[in-house]
Amino acid sequence: MLVIFGASGDLTARKLVPALYNLYKANQLPENFVVLGVSRSNMTDGEFRRKVVLESKFLEEKKKGESLDFINSLAEKFFYEDLGADYNLEYSKLATRISDLNNKYRTDHNYIFYLSTPPSLYEVIAKNLSDQELNNEEKGWKRIVVEKPFGYSLGTAKELNRGLQKYFKESQIYRIDHYLGKETVQNLLVTRFSNSIFEPLWNRNYISHIEITNAESGGVEKRGGYYDTSGALRDMFQNHLMQIVSLIVMEPPIDASALEIRNEKVKALKSLRIMRDEETLFKNTIRAQYLASEIDGETVKGYREEEGVNPESKTETYAAIKFFVDNWRWKDVPFYVRTAKRMPTKVTEVVVHFKSPHHQVFKDSDMGNKDNKLIIRIQPDEGILLKFGVKVPGQGFKVEQTHLDFSYSDLGETVVMEAYERLLLDAMQGDATLYARADEVEAAWDFVDPILDYWENGKDVNIYGYSAGVWGPSNADDLLEGDFKWRNPTES
Ligand code: NAP
Repeated sequence: MLVIFGASGDLTARKLVPALYNLYKANQLPENFVVLGVSRSNMTDGEFRRKVVLESKFLEEKKKGESLDFINSLAEKFFYEDLGADYNLEYSKLATRISDLNNKYRTDHNYIFYLSTPPSLYEVIAKNLSDQELNNEEKGWKRIVVEKPFGYSLGTAKELNRGLQKYFKESQIYRIDHYLGKETVQNLLVTRFSNSIFEPLWNRNYISHIEITNAESGGVEKRGGYYDTSGALRDMFQNHLMQIVSLIVMEPPIDASALEIRNEKVKALKSLRIMRDEETLFKNTIRAQYLASEIDGETVKGYREEEGVNPESKTETYAAIKFFVDNWRWKDVPFYVRTAKRMPTKVTEVVVHFKSPHHQVFKDSDMGNKDNKLIIRIQPDEGILLKFGVKVPGQGFKVEQTHLDFSYSDLGETVVMEAYERLLLDAMQGDATLYARADEVEAAWDFVDPILDYWENGKDVNIYGYSAGVWGPSNADDLLEGDFKWRNPTES
């Protein structure tokens, strides 16, 4: 049984139910599977079914051509219970409802509690579940899934971890980071550890630097109020991008188990060189905000003019960080990571830049910024691109760059699972590999906390502006070493 807290909210309708729809359609849900939605809002089972299944705009596309029997049979798996005004009452009523559904649908006392509520409620809910012995695994397993943001700082993340761990064992806690549910993020592991051609080169001897870009073309949309308390570093970097960094940096795990993979990721995150002094932070971090500008003849608001945003806000919509990894493999290899809104396009990619050959045989073939690159496209058009030099036909040895390109779309009929689909299925099967462990989250915060502290409290910290639709402020070039330039991801 999947019990969703915050079931009246956006995430449930937009992500969780569509993922369940796909799993049901693919026959991946157990026969006796049921969902119990829980929130403060007053709704009957029928109203909840209409809201999230029968009349949901998020299922419109999926339902096209589907029989009414199929849709109704899915809707009948959804139930709803309201929990009173402050999520602190009526847990005995909830426990009775869970028990009744368990008896009726024979769910073997196996429950996932999915907390899709504000994080301030996580500990309260965990405590109340524990008071009702709904954390007890004597009969059936019990798992608790929590959404991001997982903490606002290192201190609050630790508090949240300790709060949950008072009532649930770490092995019962699943911290979701939907980037880990993406096929291409998981493919980072496979690219590295199932091919003999990349791993021998995956180190300081052959790699000059790593570049990661996460760009969104939109602004903060209707989330100005929330975003202004968060910013790019908390919203994207601390979680999704640090997960990607850990998969690039980590050593080969002994096997593909959750324990071994997560052990290696924690080691990787702990080896990031934490920047503590202001001079280092000044030289290696850039933050900026988008300004009011024209895109395709249309004027878009600047960040500080957005609804819900403080007109004097210093919250970054652009963050670029340069850092190093203090271990044998990565010594002196710079990592450049940037994340931003109002960029020219929506893209997330990792670029592994290889060093130029030690000796240039073909003197005329100035490859300039065209070193060998392995480009891992995380979204959209998921795939991998390998760039290398070939001879231009004709006299002499002129070299130009070409590439080998693999797109997941080349697999044709194979359906790539959406992130939430994969993660929900893993939680049901008890596979925590793609969920973040407490020490992993804390290690990521360890690295990010001093940057946030410097940006919020440091002396003379700049916040730059950039026009919407460009690749951020020109000051971001000051981070770069040598003649390297940020890659333009719109170029193939
Ligand atoms: P939402 O639309 O605001 O829904 C939150 C739900 O929590 C509401 O249905 C609300 O239902 C309930 N709630 C209970 N106590 C509340 C309180 N004191 N204040 C506000 N709401 C309360 O949020 P959401 O977008 O679904 O997000 C849920 C969680 O997932 C959040 O932690 C969010 O950060 C995270 N998340 C969301 C997304 C996304 O795409 N939406 C993506 C990543 C992470 P009642 O009023 O009926 O109780």
